[in-house]
Amino acid sequence: MTKKEQCEFCDGPVEHRAIRAEFHYKGETIFVDNVPAWVCTQCAEQYFDAPVYKRLEEIARHRRQIKKTVSFPLAEFEMLNAKA
Ligand SMILES: [Zn+2]
Repeated sequence: MTKKEQCEFCDGPVEHRAIRAEFHYKGETIFVDNVPAWVCTQCAEQYFDAPVYKRLEEIARHRRQIKKTVSFPLAEFEMLNAKA
């Protein structure tokens, strides 16, 4: 997905934020902190830039190495490869 200025669902304004992303991968839900995402201010729909999404997939693929847990596996998003 690419940069959005309007929400696809409700046409609300979308802003760039670092969020705790909920990411679904092979039937599991993984939470990743500090993910740069576009979030709709009206309906909270989340959009990710392509490199960010790719990185999330990578984190999800290595989810067994996630050390930090809250009440669910929590990974730290690395900004390194995600900068546009
Ligand atoms: Zn929306």
